[in-house]
Amino acid sequence: MPSNAQQDFLQYINDNAGPFIERLKEAVAIRSISGDTNPDVRKEVIRMSIWMLEKLHSYGVTAEAIPLGKQIINGEATDLDLPPVIVGRIGEDAAKKTVLVYGHLDVQPANQDGWTIPDPFDLDVDTKSGKMIGRGATDDKGPVLGWINVLEAHYKLGLQLPVNMRFCFEAMEESGSEGLDDFIKVEAAKGPNGYFGNVDCVCISDNYWLNNRTPAITYGLRGIAYFNATVSGPRVDLHSGVYGGTVHEPMTDLIAIMSRLVDSQGQILFDGAYENVPSVTDEEVALYEAIDFDVSELEEFTGPVALSQDKITVLMGRMRNPSLSLHGIVGDSSGPEAQTIIPAKVTGKFSLRLVPPQTPESINAKVTKFLNEQFDTLGTRNHLDVQMVSSGLPWVENTKHWNYDAAISAIKAAYPDRKDPDLIREGGSIPVTLTFAENLPGANIVLIPMGRGDDGAHSANEKLDIENFITGSQLLGMYLYAVAAAETN
Ligand SMILES: [Zn+2]
Repeated sequence: MPSNAQQDFLQYINDNAGPFIERLKEAVAIRSISGDTNPDVRKEVIRMSIWMLEKLHSYGVTAEAIPLGKQIINGEATDLDLPPVIVGRIGEDAAKKTVLVYGHLDVQPANQDGWTIPDPFDLDVDTKSGKMIGRGATDDKGPVLGWINVLEAHYKLGLQLPVNMRFCFEAMEESGSEGLDDFIKVEAAKGPNGYFGNVDCVCISDNYWLNNRTPAITYGLRGIAYFNATVSGPRVDLHSGVYGGTVHEPMTDLIAIMSRLVDSQGQILFDGAYENVPSVTDEEVALYEAIDFDVSELEEFTGPVALSQDKITVLMGRMRNPSLSLHGIVGDSSGPEAQTIIPAKVTGKFSLRLVPPQTPESINAKVTKFLNEQFDTLGTRNHLDVQMVSSGLPWVENTKHWNYDAAISAIKAAYPDRKDPDLIREGGSIPVTLTFAENLPGANIVLIPMGRGDDGAHSANEKLDIENFITGSQLLGMYLYAVAAAETN
């Protein structure tokens, strides 16, 4: 049974759904597109950060805006200010646990085709369908405002928060979180004197349920290693009518080696591709079995192309196995015309999604060795150059921890009529998770998504359901109570 304080909190959130939605509308209206380097747009990103700072202040949080310096573009400093990171703290009770919350205030651009509302920055609230359409609604302004709703409820009701809270809100997430890693490192190193001192657990709400029904908790993220493989040889592009049959062709060589990386069943073919990846345990299989997921739902989106009709195989393919995808070839003569060019230089783009204990460095060494060996078997006189152009580590958290017990019991309390929460790993990555994991080694990290699988973050018609926003705000608050009640030994 929820305590009186919890019941008052839940009631306050329900009673204030209207003003909370209005506040989300206010936040969405701030065009905080971090990827746009136009100084006027950057002002909006900074305005969003300061808006957040003021909200924290107004609900009793000690908070400040920490400048992160100037933006660096292509290795060169510009005079464009990075938006400040907003950090805050409330509660200094040594007898209580300390929860660190992360979220981001910036959004993707909204110039995609397919928006059905006139202005993506004017949140469209449709009480009939229960959907709120607008850029940033679900990624990540809705979840961030969920925390503000929790703070407001406690402040207005005169209730003490059940835990000490620490906040870290950035506004460059959609642009590589420039400046944030260094800030977190420095702040964490301050120990008890810093904003991240004595943090027992971290909660990030910046991803989505697997489907549109069942709330989820995320305990893992895949890493990435992105490669460019460039084959060159001829001094210039050549005409196939003149030179076809007379020279080694870069495209032929590139396709030959790229085709040896992965087969049509999704198996990665180079030596060591699965090295040290733990084999699946019965316990883990049971975890996948329990997830509310059906391959037909996947195929509703992808079309009838799933690698398997077996639910567990498909879930493992997305969550706990590495994968390799071929993305494209730069320098080809694409386009509809029947061009007869022999390109002089072509670059194949492909990437691997990684799982622990794989690292981009170890995969880079294996991929480079393999491609060079394969290239040598071709008997070509062209040249190959392999570069890993971007990378990120994978992450998996220990779920046998009170932080996960707390998240699960909070979801059950907030969504009593749903199936038990899905424990999932994301196929993609949220790099800040790694940064917290590395710099706060004593803190367990949980990802509690607010939005549904079909929210369409980054796409046209991004939306958040009203129910997810309101019940999701209750969930975040209930999580704090569950953390407070958790036995830590
Ligand atoms: Zn996000």
